[in-house]
Amino acid sequence: MDKKLVYSLNEGSSEMTEILGEKGANLAEMTKIGIPVPFGFTISTEACSRFYENGGKMDPAVRAEICAKVSELEDVTGKNLGDPENPLLLAVRGSAPVPMNGALKTILNLGLNRDTVNALEKMTGDKRFALNNMLDFLASYSSLVMGVDEDKFIDLYTQKSGQFCTDKDDLLSIGELEDLEEEYRNLIHEETGADVPEDPIEQLENGILALLRQWMSPDVVSYRKIRQIPDEPGEAITVQAMVYGNAGSSSGTGVVLSRDPTSGEKRLYGEFMINAKGSDMQRGIRTPMELSIMGAAFPDVYDRLKHICEILETQYRDLQYAEFTVQKGKLYILQTRRGRRTAQAAVRTAVDMVSENLIDRKTAVLRIDPVSIENLLAPRFDPEQEKDAKVIAEGIEASPGCACGRLVFSAEQALQLHQIGEPVILVQKDTDAEDLAGIYASAGIVTQRGATTSHASGAARAMGKACVTSVGDDLEIADDLNSMQAGDKTYYRGEYISINGFRGRVYEGQIHMIPPDLSGDFGKIMGWADEFRTMKVRTNANTPEEAKQGMDFGAEGIGLCRSEHMFYQGNRLQLFQRMILTEDPEKRREVMEEIKQIQRADYYEIFTVMEGFPVSIRLLDLPLQDFLPDSRRELAAFAEEADLSVGSVQRVADSLRENNPMLGRRGCRLCIMHPEIAEMQTEAIISAAIEAEEKMKRQVDLEIVVPLVISVHELNTVKEVISRTAQKVMKESGHKIEYRIGSMLEVPRACMRADALAESVDTFSFGTNDLTQMMYGLSRSDTAGLISEYIDQGIFPNDPFKTIDREGVGKMMQRAITLGRRVKPNLRLGVCGAQTGDQDSVQFFQEIGINYVSCSPFRVPVARLAAAQAAIRLGSGKDE
Ligand code: ADP
Ligand code: MG
Ligand code: MG
Repeated sequence: MDKKLVYSLNEGSSEMTEILGEKGANLAEMTKIGIPVPFGFTISTEACSRFYENGGKMDPAVRAEICAKVSELEDVTGKNLGDPENPLLLAVRGSAPVPMNGALKTILNLGLNRDTVNALEKMTGDKRFALNNMLDFLASYSSLVMGVDEDKFIDLYTQKSGQFCTDKDDLLSIGELEDLEEEYRNLIHEETGADVPEDPIEQLENGILALLRQWMSPDVVSYRKIRQIPDEPGEAITVQAMVYGNAGSSSGTGVVLSRDPTSGEKRLYGEFMINAKGSDMQRGIRTPMELSIMGAAFPDVYDRLKHICEILETQYRDLQYAEFTVQKGKLYILQTRRGRRTAQAAVRTAVDMVSENLIDRKTAVLRIDPVSIENLLAPRFDPEQEKDAKVIAEGIEASPGCACGRLVFSAEQALQLHQIGEPVILVQKDTDAEDLAGIYASAGIVTQRGATTSHASGAARAMGKACVTSVGDDLEIADDLNSMQAGDKTYYRGEYISINGFRGRVYEGQIHMIPPDLSGDFGKIMGWADEFRTMKVRTNANTPEEAKQGMDFGAEGIGLCRSEHMFYQGNRLQLFQRMILTEDPEKRREVMEEIKQIQRADYYEIFTVMEGFPVSIRLLDLPLQDFLPDSRRELAAFAEEADLSVGSVQRVADSLRENNPMLGRRGCRLCIMHPEIAEMQTEAIISAAIEAEEKMKRQVDLEIVVPLVISVHELNTVKEVISRTAQKVMKESGHKIEYRIGSMLEVPRACMRADALAESVDTFSFGTNDLTQMMYGLSRSDTAGLISEYIDQGIFPNDPFKTIDREGVGKMMQRAITLGRRVKPNLRLGVCGAQTGDQDSVQFFQEIGINYVSCSPFRVPVARLAAAQAAIRLGSGKDE
């Protein structure tokens, strides 16, 4: 049988988003479970594919099915298209398999012409209403189908009424509305040389074709690109009977969320406008009322809405968002989808829904976006400082979070400053889809207009940015977008401001931040995640403070302690430089002794903080050159201060200079060229471990990791230095320490020689930053711009330094694992690299059998959650 191309709304379900689009599928689901939805049908994405396969022509089979469905709709509604007595009027709505809010257009009141508009008037006895709907139709049809700029209609309307508002009965007289209709029609004719067709069938066919075409229009294509929405299978189109929220004072339109999307509290949340259409609400022409207030005015409607939200939650087992319209007291639902929520609301909703028996704990864990919880871990303003900060504007708390940044007034300005690493706060009148990249680049967003459901707040919540909307006249943005006026003060572009999205406030200057609370619902979710998780999560920590931070966030050890980072603090760098640059062996030994004591003290503290959890310490890695003073002058000054001869210092420095330091004498090459450094480090580590064991009365779980290994002989040479030195220290102290040796796998050759390496070590630690850099031959520190260009051009799917490249780097890792485990089945496998804070990458690491990932302290909860989700998805998780 041929494929079905068009589906009535009672022929589908929410599972069919690929075929019906997310709107069509959810409308079908609601129809199925008896929620009041205006009847209609959905033209499937298959029809869209055929349209493009046919070179932009409608498939005759599709046309035939549409005709049949129109007849059915006429039967069900008892109205006919174009009927001058009782006309069927249609909403024609585009939708993709995933929500693309606002990007795909809708034509309303299709079927109106000079005859049917009279019928509409007769049926309602309201000429103004009929005319207003006609205006809507002319604008929405001609902008989408004929390419007229929609703003021009708004201009015409505003010229007449003083404001853009189609719902205030007394705003325009019937005569004025009639004039406007003529002006609209003239404008269309002037702009296009054509008129809006009178024949509803022609209107419908043109409308459908235009919606199909918009799928590949530049705006929609770039919208998809930003969100990585695939071109296939395309757009579905729902054609549905119109309902009217603008039919008088017992009508209206609104949006509802089944729970509070900011806090997660179980209560209806949303907004309502009396005698208005959905588009009025989206434009924010009037400030809508809160649903609770609407409840007082329309108790019956409110109760039904509440009941429907319960049905929706039971059906979808998730927080739902719905758009509704009340036509003369009767409630219709026009759309539902999964409700967006803040990280905080996601956590609370998931925990609550488990206790309400709506979902199980695995589902709850899967519901939380791991990356978003970094938000919850984000600091808030210090209340003491916030109390004294100067409030320059107040608005609606549209997306939670606190942020400080430099003031900008356009997406473009935001991107510019963001690119040079500055935090920015974007202040605009309002935002739309074109501002998304700017919002993404900002730490926080402030808008003058809009409310909790406007574009800015939705986007900010989805991206986890602080947002304050509706600050209105508190701020006046200058026309040149270089400053804003607040009260009697001017704030210039680039100045710091602070915003609190929990409280809807904008402050002057910068406010100090404090750390978050990790207990409560968050603790519960993380506890469940840990139950299902099989991969360990460790923290990268170079100092005792970072180790403590990581442990507080739930790390199960240190996966990477980078010795060189210990020298970035205080006057240690100078000491380190003296070690490198001193030629005289006696003096050099003195310096090294001093350094050893410092390292020893640090390691000791780290061991005691870690209380027996594993600690992997990597020997010095960076090229020595990185530690040298930059210029000749600085070298001379250094020599003077260190009481060394300038000539000798420069001689040593010159001998260390390399053209390509990242591919030079770094990693374990250092240990081989300067075995005394490895000896010194080993002495520091082992003696610290001995001291810590004596103090703690428990064992230290220690591993010494050799960096950037290329060959097994190299590894064995370093290993010999470590063992010999460790033996010596243990013998001197009479205290024996258990320790393991690991090898970093960061060079492709090492991966290919993994079987040989595995003979010598207990652990492989994949350093995926260097491994990616070496396999791509792209310098991580220089190519960020190139990579984003490549992503824009579609050459790279994403940034391989953020998300592991499964096909190349990933394959190399798998090869190394196979080789290594063949020799040593119990080989322990770790990953440290920036990709460990990324959800997809963590899933990949789980798939290939990695034992632990190690990431920066703040990412530890992200990795714990991502690892739990990976385990659940792959079915390798522990059971409930
Ligand atoms: P979007 O993706 O922008 O939400 P929609 O198709 O949901 O697009 O609708 C755009 C506007 O049209 C909404 O404000 C909605 O209220 C209105 N609308 C959609 N369907 C109908 C309908 N059947 N009757 C009346 N208004 C409708
Ligand atoms: Mg909608
Ligand atoms: Mg490295």
